[in-house]
Amino acid sequence: MGLALYRKYRPQTFGDLTDQVHVRVTLQNEIGAGKIAHAYLFAGPRGIGKTTTARIFAKVINCTDRKGNEPCLACEACLSIQDNKAVDILEIDAASHTGVDAVRENIIESVRFTPARLKYKVFIIDEVHMLSTAAFNALLKTLEEPPAHAIFILATTETHKVPATILSRCQRFDFRKIGVPDLVKRLATLASKEEVDVDTEVLKDIARAAGGSLRDAESMLGQILALGEKRVTRDEAALVLPHSDLDLARQFLDVIHRGRGGDALQLIDKLVADGVDFARFLEDTQRLLRLGLLAAMGETSGLSELDEPGAALVSGPLAGWGTPRLLAAIETIMTAQERVKRGDGSPLPLEIVVATLLAPPPAAAPTVSMPAPVAPKPVAPPPVKKAPAEASFGAPENILPLAKGEPLVPPQAGEGVSSPSAITLPLEAFREKWQQLIVAAGEVSHSLSYVLNGSKPEAIEAEKLIIGVPFAFHRDRLNDHKNRRTVEDACEKIFGCKVCIEGLVVEGLQNPASEVVSVSMEDPVIKNVLDAFGGRVVS
Ligand SMILES: [Zn+2]
Repeated sequence: MGLALYRKYRPQTFGDLTDQVHVRVTLQNEIGAGKIAHAYLFAGPRGIGKTTTARIFAKVINCTDRKGNEPCLACEACLSIQDNKAVDILEIDAASHTGVDAVRENIIESVRFTPARLKYKVFIIDEVHMLSTAAFNALLKTLEEPPAHAIFILATTETHKVPATILSRCQRFDFRKIGVPDLVKRLATLASKEEVDVDTEVLKDIARAAGGSLRDAESMLGQILALGEKRVTRDEAALVLPHSDLDLARQFLDVIHRGRGGDALQLIDKLVADGVDFARFLEDTQRLLRLGLLAAMGETSGLSELDEPGAALVSGPLAGWGTPRLLAAIETIMTAQERVKRGDGSPLPLEIVVATLLAPPPAAAPTVSMPAPVAPKPVAPPPVKKAPAEASFGAPENILPLAKGEPLVPPQAGEGVSSPSAITLPLEAFREKWQQLIVAAGEVSHSLSYVLNGSKPEAIEAEKLIIGVPFAFHRDRLNDHKNRRTVEDACEKIFGCKVCIEGLVVEGLQNPASEVVSVSMEDPVIKNVLDAFGGRVVS
């Protein structure tokens, strides 16, 4: 059924191709100008329309009744290609015909003869990088002097394995991965054609799991439709959809963020027990860190690829790590990827990642203590030393240690700004109970509580409570109508008065989430790991 769906709705014209616009437009222009090349290279990940595009191209150039730069879909040439019956269109899977003999037999011999029925003989060679060196050499001779009637379309997922001599003979097109929104759109169209009502959340799950591959997405949708339901919710879809690997990476970074080395190592044990591919796991972890890095720089469009818990982790805690720590973490993962590649399957590289990520860089020492973040669900606080209560402001519990020798910076911003306004409480009153507000808002929206974790009441101005946040995208989230309403409702509940709020980016305000991670030498698992690697906790 999955494959059937993919075939059933396979695009038949350039107009049907909703993605890869850059490829489509260029090919159509060449056809229109009568300047087609003899050899093309279609490069890009699997399942994103390379062979589909090759077939449409073959159809257009052979169509005897072309409509502009599109095939007529009615002439003998169009119909025979559509039905896979055209003897002059040769699709060769190089993965199963790697040797020079196969190339001689299937291509070199055949290319000498003029087409039997069509204008052009089209050779579509899929996974061309799989050919042997001898096979490539044989092919190269043909590409150097192709007969006028022959067109070659080489498709590959691994361009770097194709010899430069071959590449230089081809006009190259790079096919791109398809984004989640475009995949969802395509899947919604297919589902409605099949007259099945599939929840948008399910379509998003499929699109994310497909990782940019239209073929994989359509195959998964096909399996879901095969359940035979008229309406498909997440519950039904869970029977078919693969458990998201990205969720493992999210859990991993979440426990790292909370400074829980023991939990992180347990998770690695589970990966081993479940036979999870370490390389894949590291790749997923890397992907989240990268999105965190982009978010820290104010670029959050990539978050739409993630589910809600993933997006909340990336936009909140991970972005709050700040660029230097994220870069260091990404470096750590890259090193681990190398080790996994060279290793013997032992989880040691992952354990090194845990130890490295949990050891804070020597330079990173908070200068001002801030309230610790509040997790969406009640959890034991991370092992953080408490500072003397009088040496800090904010909530009395979960205070970070002050760096040794650092002068204490007293809270000053906005202190005296509480000018006459409808808000009768002083700024200090808001600050005192701010943690309670974060908890209350977090009960309504997890991601909002992440945003608020980095926030602080800054001032009361023009009858508004000004809330300082470290990043522009936190401000935008806070000022979003729905979130603002949530915070204002929570304010009313906790402070007992009506309050209007406004988010404001305050420079130098750190997301405390970035500073809470700490390692306890008391944790026996961490101690073992560190002993094993000769490491130490940097404090
Ligand atoms: Zn036609």
